[in-house]
Amino acid sequence: MPKDFLQGAHDRYDVIVIGSGLAGLTAANTLARAGRSVLLLEQHYKLGGMATWFRRPGGHIFDISLHGFPVGMVKSCRRYWTSEIADSIVQLKNIRFDNPMFSLTTTFNREDFTRLLVERFQVAADAVRSFFDTARGMNFYDDQRMTTGELFERSFPGREDVIRLLMEPITYANGSTLEDPAISYGIVFSNFMSKGVFTFQGGTDHLIKLMHADLLKSGVDVRIRADVERIIIRGGRVWGVRVNGREIAAGSVVSNANLKSTIFKLVGEERFDPSFRDEARSVRLNNSSCQVYMALKPGDELDENLGDLLFSSTAPLFRTEALLSRDVTSRTYSFYYPRTRPGSDRCMIVSSTNARYEDWAGLSRDDYEASKQDLVETTLDAASKYVPNIRERVDHAEASTPLTFHHYTKHLDGASFGTKFEGLAVSRALPEQVSGLFHAGSVGIIMSGWLGAMNYGVIVANDVDNWLLKSAAAPVAPCAEVS
Ligand SMILES: Cc1cc2nc3c(=O)[nH]c(=O)nc-3n(C[C@H](O)[C@H](O)[C@H](O)COP(=O)(O)OP(=O)(O)OC[C@H]3O[C@@H](n4cnc5c(N)ncnc54)[C@H](O)[C@@H]3O)c2cc1C
Repeated sequence: MPKDFLQGAHDRYDVIVIGSGLAGLTAANTLARAGRSVLLLEQHYKLGGMATWFRRPGGHIFDISLHGFPVGMVKSCRRYWTSEIADSIVQLKNIRFDNPMFSLTTTFNREDFTRLLVERFQVAADAVRSFFDTARGMNFYDDQRMTTGELFERSFPGREDVIRLLMEPITYANGSTLEDPAISYGIVFSNFMSKGVFTFQGGTDHLIKLMHADLLKSGVDVRIRADVERIIIRGGRVWGVRVNGREIAAGSVVSNANLKSTIFKLVGEERFDPSFRDEARSVRLNNSSCQVYMALKPGDELDENLGDLLFSSTAPLFRTEALLSRDVTSRTYSFYYPRTRPGSDRCMIVSSTNARYEDWAGLSRDDYEASKQDLVETTLDAASKYVPNIRERVDHAEASTPLTFHHYTKHLDGASFGTKFEGLAVSRALPEQVSGLFHAGSVGIIMSGWLGAMNYGVIVANDVDNWLLKSAAAPVAPCAEVS
């Protein structure tokens, strides 16, 4: 008999959350703390979604998406999770750039960027101040027609080097381009610029372990290997879900699955107004990425002068298109020292490049494996510029592709940051289409990344709580059991 991963689950909850990405986890915890009975369903065998890790023989642990996040995570983790989680967040102090236009190291905050722009790039101090103030003053309700490219051209006309410094890290981080709305750039850039780049000491495995413990403490019924096949709609409102062949009812459902999968696969397009359907169809997915994970032999230490994050490129100019090309010229390296996981003697290097799903999806099995190996080899060659004798020093190296991310999270096209900006309006409008159905997950850069996803989870949890208060949803039995 196959194991029943839903054994002991109730027939009805106040809220069912589909997916345990950071938005799903935080929505579930917030709702449970507000006294709601919550069932959290994750199709994978691990919680965390893209916030994940994997182990390899020899004791190596690789983090997938722990490259850096803004300081806002400290406050969000303290408010919506625990002090222990918030207290484990530490700053990455050495962020490096190395490309044909410039090589430099920065603490990646407003003060240091101002110093660099004025002293090294010879930009007038007023122009720098005005740019930072404009970026910081942007908010979601602003005019969304100005593009990031236009914002730069207005602030630093003809300065490709300045644009590269300001834009390249954000493009690497979340795939945003010069054609995206300037507000999406401004909000994310300002978040980082407020204090710099931060990481979670202890590794993603430790973070998710602490979050899991807190979910159980809050009373969330947590289920892994629970693949939601359908969101059930009855009488024009959400009824519940079909998961692992079983129907479970809920007053409200929050989907943390990809926005487009939620609408077109889990619900079905026939349930939506034609105009909403069209709007949802036209939402663009964000790009995906490839990564190469390299572990040094036990005890071999990286020179800390390498920095924590290194944006490297051999392309003469910054072009978004070049960042997505299979002909890789730009790589972001994350260097993990033993202090990442206190007590460990391991150093890891993770190289990331933006990538398109379609460049990998059409390959035969053999070509796919050969391309992955080629990616590993060319990355080792490129990294040898920074890590001498890397080939002799590496104990394990392997690559992931957009197909890997698709496989583990079901994100269409392996999108690493959900959808482009227009996804946010569609995500917010979902409850107007199907009463009681909400979406919380990576949409539109601002609501993506560790901080954006977590904060979006809280926003939606509050919407759900208010909706349950107002709706005629019958009160349900409290959920006492956790697994
Ligand atoms: C390679 C890479 C590097 C990144 N680096 C950074 C970084 O350095 N800093 C940063 O801030 N962000 C980074 N990100 C982005 C960040 O990790 C994500 O934006 C964030 O974790 C997404 O959270 P989410 O809540 O949207 O859900 P996701 O993480 O997308 O999780 C969705 C969950 O839903 C589950 N699910 C889907 N369908 C179903 C179903 N039918 N039934 C049950 N469960 C389902 C999936 O299995 C998954 O667990 C990176 C992403 C990638 C891919």
